[in-house]
Amino acid sequence: MFIVLLGPPGAGKGTQAQRIATASKLLHISTGDMFRENVREETELGTLAKTYMDRGDLVPDEVTIKMLVERIGRPDAATGVMFDGFPRNVAQASALDAALRARGDAITHALLISVADEELVARLGGRWICRQCGKLFHERNDPPKRAGVCDACGGELYQRADDGAEVVRTRLEKQKPPLDLIEHYRAAGVLHEIDGQRGLDAVSADLFAALGLGVASA
Ligand code: AMP
Repeated sequence: MFIVLLGPPGAGKGTQAQRIATASKLLHISTGDMFRENVREETELGTLAKTYMDRGDLVPDEVTIKMLVERIGRPDAATGVMFDGFPRNVAQASALDAALRARGDAITHALLISVADEELVARLGGRWICRQCGKLFHERNDPPKRAGVCDACGGELYQRADDGAEVVRTRLEKQKPPLDLIEHYRAAGVLHEIDGQRGLDAVSADLFAALGLGVASA
């Protein structure tokens, strides 16, 4: 299976992608995580990406596509991938299609999680991430057992720099999945639309059903 998860920032893509990857044993590729890792390690790519990320803008396509195509060329991506945060537009989707087509593969599922704007602003403000293992939490919807501490590994939880109110509004404006991207996957016959304005488990259940996977679990 080659799955893309579409939805605005804060729709729950990251959390759901982690659940799907765990249940399906698919490789989880998040371009946002890849950029953040490069920023942390102060690579040339990270320095470039940071200037866009700090403003809530998308990193230019040629940079993002090159990084992604290199990543899926590695052996662990041979049999299936859960893409999270890629593609963000039709140019990226077409590049991904071409890279997969060249090896006889194709996107099998495009899962669109939709949520209203007001809800997204509230959600993004409450998001916490484990510094050690990357697990996601939310103050209101999915809190850790102890504030500031990861349930899974005991690591320290932090908030992303681009989850502040001002940048969140820019990210919402600029990073909602464009209609032509949604149409791209509808035309390919692989689009599944899921109402993301519900609890995490209800959304997982619909996503798992669309993928033909067994019971959703955290
Ligand atoms: P995310 O974790 O998916 O919200 O991504 C965090 C930031 O990384 C975004 O605000 C963008 O600046 C950048 N980014 C992640 N994925 C992409 C992509 N597919 N295209 C361009 N920029 C991206």
